[in-house]
Amino acid sequence: MCAVLYAELAEVYSRLEETPGKLEKTEIIAKVMKGVDEELLGIISQLLMGRVFPEWSGLELGVGPSMLYEAIAFVCGVAPKDVKRAVAEAGDAGSAAEELLKRKVQQTLIARRLSVREVYSTFERIARASGKGSHQRKLKLLAELLSHAEPLEARYIVRTVLGELRVGVAEGLVRDAIALAFSVPASAVERAYMLCGDFGEVARRAKHEGEEGLRSIRMKPGTPVKPMLAQLAPSLEKVLQELGTAAVEVKYDGARVQIHKRGEELWIFSRRLENVTSALPDVAERAKRCITATTAVVEGEAVAVDPETGKPRAFQEILRRFRRKYDVGKMVAEIPFEVFLFDALYIDGEMLIDLSFEERRRRLEGAVKPERGFELAEQLITGSAGEAEAFYEKALEMGHEGIMLKSLRAPYVPGARVGYMYKLKPVMETLDLVITGAVWGTGKRAGWLSSYELSARDEDTGELLPVGRVGTGVTEEQLQEFTEMLRPLIISQEAEEVRLMPKVVVEVAYQEIQRSPNYASGFALRFPRVVRVREDKSPEEADTLQRVRELYESQRQAP
Ligand code: AMP
Repeated sequence: MCAVLYAELAEVYSRLEETPGKLEKTEIIAKVMKGVDEELLGIISQLLMGRVFPEWSGLELGVGPSMLYEAIAFVCGVAPKDVKRAVAEAGDAGSAAEELLKRKVQQTLIARRLSVREVYSTFERIARASGKGSHQRKLKLLAELLSHAEPLEARYIVRTVLGELRVGVAEGLVRDAIALAFSVPASAVERAYMLCGDFGEVARRAKHEGEEGLRSIRMKPGTPVKPMLAQLAPSLEKVLQELGTAAVEVKYDGARVQIHKRGEELWIFSRRLENVTSALPDVAERAKRCITATTAVVEGEAVAVDPETGKPRAFQEILRRFRRKYDVGKMVAEIPFEVFLFDALYIDGEMLIDLSFEERRRRLEGAVKPERGFELAEQLITGSAGEAEAFYEKALEMGHEGIMLKSLRAPYVPGARVGYMYKLKPVMETLDLVITGAVWGTGKRAGWLSSYELSARDEDTGELLPVGRVGTGVTEEQLQEFTEMLRPLIISQEAEEVRLMPKVVVEVAYQEIQRSPNYASGFALRFPRVVRVREDKSPEEADTLQRVRELYESQRQAP
């Protein structure tokens, strides 16, 4: 597999789909990695995971099921409603497109074969089509692509567009495959990937420079790093017992920001690594002024404060600011932000992630001249449960979400939920889940999509598996809002039940997690309730099945 035809990739997909074993899958991918042209390594890695663009690229195809079906209908010479019917019958849009094309292929001959690069660059052109007439342009590009596709190729192009590749490959497998292909430790691949976010670069280094090359990958201001995640504290006492003397910090209720500075240049990235610099000029300006180091990567929480009451604003309003593309100045005045910094990953040319948190905080203090609205997170170093408890109560009294408990000795592990940082809050932990299905309501709810199927992602396979349905507790207004949001995502419908393109992430509260044979995940949420839509999270970032299991276990351990 050298110049790589898309047909060859489709064959690989098909083999992966038929191979359930993780090890065998890893071997299949490793073989691809070894044989493929170097500059294709990045693209192939993305495509194998069923993602077209890395999260931080800011690129999205912007194609929903109805446009896709229109394109399939056009290419196959049938009506869009025939495509819909075929999808409902096959239970999968990819297989439906494959079947429809098979019928058509008998009549015409495909003149030209698609290469992986060509498919990818068409995806790029589709993503970049915006503004007036973009619908038609996207549709034309998509139809052109499908008109050159053989049936098996169409199966995977269609699934890729819908974000439902279903070949059971997630980041972990690609990581292991690179390790296997180039004989380097998986941990070194993982770390390098977390730092540069590009499997192509990681694979090239592994191939030519081995483990040492991977270790020499440095973080660069301007390229975001996956944030380290917090674990749920079993209890304050237990965490302090484990950590000994620890850093106790206020848990601010806002949105995480990663601020990068290089000389006069400044970037702000969201938690999902989108570049949000232009939406936050006030934060950028303060950061430029207050970060005294020449180069830096620091992390903090951006909190929206009501200028009149001084109280924190709702999370939704924070996100409104993050997404804003026009009238930014007006939003700055309406919803001013304050930033509380809590970590430093890189300062003046030095990468700090392997240093202890204690040392990183010290470096942070040395690199920032705080001012009102751009401050360091309030912190108490203590080993005493009594002192920590008092700090916790004070934090809650002041309207904060809770506290963080951090190991003073621990390094920063990008992208991982390791036990170096715990969060403690009074309310029950919620789950961020993807809506993968819904039901058309009847009676008073006729015409509205209700009863949403909630799914968690299996970390190993990337598959989304249902853990429950939520219907009750949704107001009429919300029903309408959800229907508008979900209707364009309908992939197929059977009776009143629809399957949805996995796009929308919701935060869900529940009473308990139970074991259940009713759902493919093996778990079911008892009395789930939607708290809010998590616009700041992509489906890739939703909570995993592994986390559901962890919460299930921790709930069993609770007194
Ligand atoms: P959660 O999103 O519930 O997993 O909680 C972890 C999040 O809390 C982080 O991603 C930050 O956005 C936020 N946070 C607020 N204050 C702090 C702090 N002092 N240290 C670390 N994270 C914080």
